[in-house]
Amino acid sequence: MKTSILAVGTELLFGQTVNTNAAFLSDKLNHMGFDVMYHFVVGDNPARLKAKLAEAFSDTDLVILTGGLGPTQDDLTKEMVAEYMGKGMHLDKNVLEQLEEFFEKRGKAMAENNIKQAYLPDGCTPFYNASGTAPGFALNTDDKTAICLPGPPREMKWLWDNGVREYLEQFMDKKMFYRVIRTIGIGESDLETLLMPVIDGQTDPTVATYAKEGECTLRVASQRDTTEEAEAAVNEMIERIDSLVGDFIYSYDDEDLKEVVVRILKEKGLTITSAESCTGGKFPAAITDVAGASDVLSSAYITYSNESKIKELGVPAELIDRYGVVSPQVAEAMAIGAKARSGADIAVSVTGYAGPEADPGHEAGEAYIGFAIGDKVGHHDVCTSRNDRKWNRNYILLRMLRAVYQLIK
Ligand code: AMP
Ligand code: MG
Repeated sequence: MKTSILAVGTELLFGQTVNTNAAFLSDKLNHMGFDVMYHFVVGDNPARLKAKLAEAFSDTDLVILTGGLGPTQDDLTKEMVAEYMGKGMHLDKNVLEQLEEFFEKRGKAMAENNIKQAYLPDGCTPFYNASGTAPGFALNTDDKTAICLPGPPREMKWLWDNGVREYLEQFMDKKMFYRVIRTIGIGESDLETLLMPVIDGQTDPTVATYAKEGECTLRVASQRDTTEEAEAAVNEMIERIDSLVGDFIYSYDDEDLKEVVVRILKEKGLTITSAESCTGGKFPAAITDVAGASDVLSSAYITYSNESKIKELGVPAELIDRYGVVSPQVAEAMAIGAKARSGADIAVSVTGYAGPEADPGHEAGEAYIGFAIGDKVGHHDVCTSRNDRKWNRNYILLRMLRAVYQLIK
């Protein structure tokens, strides 16, 4: 079904608010099998809102609007949509009761203009909003459907999960099933080349690759008469993908690398520590993002200066003199020191230039990741050739996680 998303709000045009609602809805709708053709953004202006609504409906059958459902004068999405579709408005008792309860609970008097929120277009399907005050609704005429949702992302998402998604299922004659595979250590174009035998001439399941911050993701989706058939087709395709690029896959269910790392460490009863220079603590920050991190992490070291590498980790000073502080030798010595001092089973370390500056003879994005596990010690070279400090630091973290993943998988 051809679909448009129309975001309403002057704040979006000013750049004060990022249009995350459109991104969220697009993602969800595409996953369900809707063809999202357009994103529109319009300010809180009745004439322009109606004009965009007309434009959206001239080429698509479903228009999802967000924003402009509040109690104030400039919130006019509901009125404009009702007018466009030739519908009147009525007071919805449920919404009114909910509003009264909402204000009573907070010990506040309900302002007159809040009652405006209890009016809904005649003949609509309401989506009652337990996460806020403005209800959403769907309104049809012939073969056109408008769905209006509140602007605050939390409320919009709540309504999506509690009514909207289910409502939209009536438009899908096929059932969609998809899985998201995450890979690391291979670029998008190499991945696509290796996957050519399954991507070429694909109709169903579809295999789509997309790259994001040093990683590549694959979405395998199928639309069949039943969810079971779609799931079977997806799983069969994943087996073929696994035989082609299995070495690069770390999750078949859209998990983050840090989640996978913590899960495997836990399963194997292993503990980990880290010693970082240029990433300044990103590794334990990532590990502790995951619930249950205390089972696998007891301590971590941030050793930014040469002195702290010597003092806190026992890196030999002559190693730094001889090879330089950004060197594989120092990375390995950091890992050895961190493992010995912490008593953890595994240590991962990094020394590098996050950029934009680097010492003479070196470049931004040059880093060495060291590791120590049992008696095994080693390192990985990183060279991003990028001058971007933020990007480099995030990428180096990913490589540290990958180094650990490779040791424990
Ligand atoms: P409204 O429903 O128009 O009263 O919107 C209330 C608030 O929701 C705005 O102040 C924004 O912070 C937020 N908001 C509205 N539209 C969007 C959107 N498309 N994406 C993200 N946030 C939004
Ligand atoms: Mg608004």
